[in-house]
Amino acid sequence: MNHWNVIVIGSGPAGYTAAIYAARACLKTLIISGSTKGGQLTTTTDIENYPGFADVIQGPWLMEQMEKQATHAGAEIISDYVTDIDYKSAPFILTGAGSIKYSTDTVILATGAEAKWLGLDSETKFRGHGVSSCATCDGFFYRNRDVLVVGGGNTAVEESLYLSKIAKSVTLIHRRDSLRAEKTLQNKLFSNPKIKVLWNTVLDEVVGDENPLSVNGAILHNIADGSKVKYNFDGIFIAIGHSPNSSFVKEFIRVDSDGYIITEAGTTRTNVPGIFAAGDVQDKIYRQAVTAAGTGCMAALEAEKFISAADN
Ligand SMILES: Cc1cc2nc3c(=O)[nH]c(=O)nc-3n(C[C@H](O)[C@H](O)[C@H](O)COP(=O)(O)OP(=O)(O)OC[C@H]3O[C@@H](n4cnc5c(N)ncnc54)[C@H](O)[C@@H]3O)c2cc1C
Repeated sequence: MNHWNVIVIGSGPAGYTAAIYAARACLKTLIISGSTKGGQLTTTTDIENYPGFADVIQGPWLMEQMEKQATHAGAEIISDYVTDIDYKSAPFILTGAGSIKYSTDTVILATGAEAKWLGLDSETKFRGHGVSSCATCDGFFYRNRDVLVVGGGNTAVEESLYLSKIAKSVTLIHRRDSLRAEKTLQNKLFSNPKIKVLWNTVLDEVVGDENPLSVNGAILHNIADGSKVKYNFDGIFIAIGHSPNSSFVKEFIRVDSDGYIITEAGTTRTNVPGIFAAGDVQDKIYRQAVTAAGTGCMAALEAEKFISAADN
């Protein structure tokens, strides 16, 4: 069985950044890419907030550059999906989807998270063309425009408040007659003159133009009185939460009630010495490429320290 000093699970901004730093510290480094090589940014187009690029760049292009930089630094990359980690004694033994085993001194979990979607065909069709799951990422594209936010928890309220600073108007719809979000957030929401809340309302269909593919409205269904009305919107934000990809480790890595990996404050250390977590899988607040890259860097530096300490 091949042995590495660091195995990075995941090939998003957190994983590639961790691999760049680990390989440059002369650690034998392997990235196991998972089924979405390049991570979430490969599913989007324009990126305007990753530092270092004055012009608009494309998500898949950025991830290709990160992959090249990681392999140029000396990291190896393999296409596999980790299903299990034997963590009980050193070295860690990882099992891939085809039962291939990998041995390593340290593990960096950089498996990301996935936005939850409603599952409407029209939502899928317009995703990336007016339908988004990230106000911080895409809100700027709707300056002085009318946007719809779907959801009733903290995420939906926070996204609405964020968008209210950019958009002309924000309509928040929730399928119930009260929000689940924290009271302080709700107070801010209700006192914001730019935000309108429609209760007992669900999104029935996203409506838009075909050429180019772009959203121009939504059919909203009031489930209390049964009415269906078409409203005009330029953008639609689905804010019903995220699922961190932590299920394969949650038997032994501590996660919170939403499945996010818990790391020691100010570090990427998990409860298992030698296993670190970086990026969206441990970050329920910021969820940005640059923050994922930042924690990827931290994880590699901490892995290097862990290996040095074990050697001494
Ligand atoms: C549509 C969209 C647009 C966005 N736009 C922006 C933007 O403009 N700016 C910005 O900063 N952020 C944006 N984001 C958010 C950004 O993409 C994420 O914050 C970032 O990708 C998180 O990086 P990550 O490395 O933690 O995880 P991810 O990018 O999610 O990568 C996770 C990786 O883990 C792999 N993986 C998962 N499970 C396993 C397993 N068991 N074994 C092996 N591999 C596994 C996956 O294949 C993937 O490669 C956007 C997100 C989306 C969805």
